[in-house]
Amino acid sequence: MMMFDWSRAAACLTLDPELFFPISTEGLGHEQVERAKTICQGCPVRQPCLDYAISTGQAYGVWGGTDPSQRRALAANPAARGHGQPGGRAAARKRSRSPASR
Ligand code: SF4
Repeated sequence: MMMFDWSRAAACLTLDPELFFPISTEGLGHEQVERAKTICQGCPVRQPCLDYAISTGQAYGVWGGTDPSQRRALAANPAARGHGQPGGRAAARKRSRSPASR
């Protein structure tokens, strides 16, 4: 499994990846997404995580404090992307789950 240098400092490194990749975005899944986003808010590598997710078109899960629809919006409007907030185990697991890695 490949890890990026930034991912080693991820706040989600030891957390259950299901929190960041719920099966559904409704009901309990929605609650999981919101919990994941809260964890991302305090993550020291949030920005590189978000940059990676957008640059590689990650279509599933929470990355850098965003859900897929938020990332699509940011990708469509790059000026809206803020920098300066720092972006894991979850990232590494995300990569292994991403369609691009299959
Ligand atoms: S998904 Fe990204 S920003 Fe959120 S905790 Fe994991 S590495 Fe940090």
